Amino acid sequence: MLILLTNDDGVRAEGIWALYRELASWAEVTVVAPDVERSATGHALTIDLPLRAERVDLGPGRGPAWEVRGTPADCVKLGVRTVLNRAPDLVLSGINRGSNLGVDVFYSGTVSGAIEGALLGIPSVALSLAGRNDPLDYRPAARFARWLAARVVERGLPSACLLNVNVPAVTESELAGVAVTRLGLNRSYRDSFERRLDPRRRAYYWLVSQPEEGDWEADTDIGAVRSRRISVTPLHIDLTCHRLRQELSTWDWPLPGRAGDRGEGGGDG
Ligand code: MN
Repeated sequence: MLILLTNDDGVRAEGIWALYRELASWAEVTVVAPDVERSATGHALTIDLPLRAERVDLGPGRGPAWEVRGTPADCVKLGVRTVLNRAPDLVLSGINRGSNLGVDVFYSGTVSGAIEGALLGIPSVALSLAGRNDPLDYRPAARFARWLAARVVERGLPSACLLNVNVPAVTESELAGVAVTRLGLNRSYRDSFERRLDPRRRAYYWLVSQPEEGDWEADTDIGAVRSRRISVTPLHIDLTCHRLRQELSTWDWPLPGRAGDRGEGGGDG
């Protein structure tokens, strides 16, 4: 069993090594992770700078890793194509410090690490700990991840599908269960930009996003985590809106510069 492990909090983050320790006793684990934190970098790839990858040993309780000057998507692509030079049985991304719920999946480097695995045809799981207050205990999430990893390898995942997992930051005995959920897209962020002045009196802005508290449905990832359940959301990389595709196909689609076939216009005479 070969697992490629990445994250977006950087190769020295606590979450990835808590997961590594849980997995290392039963699987061969290769860590390929960004050199620094790359949270909220989405699915970016490095194409105009050298992609440096260096083998580092981070010492007891951690271990050898590939430290990449790049994003999580870079790490997975490079990990599979170069470091491993073959497809692992599984790609795991995390354990992220903080949740990745609802629309977060569009910005999350953690989720993008798993999406990259899915794009390469490998069963992939993104893992996040839904808490930010230290001290954070990643062990319950890591133990769940180990169980899930074995299950996913045994059963497989359909192609183009991946799992996005969020574990509430509570003790194991406080966990209320596991829920298979959908993305809670009704949660919105109140985006505001703080305007500040630099020492040369020029203005700059800093994004401050606060998730809006509101109603959440019990079958969503947000609803699950709020009720202290582990959320498992199956994601699909096909972003096609099939409903709209059907409707659009009933529209007339005249080519530019030519008359529509329903008598509109009449050519340029
Ligand atoms: Mn992160």
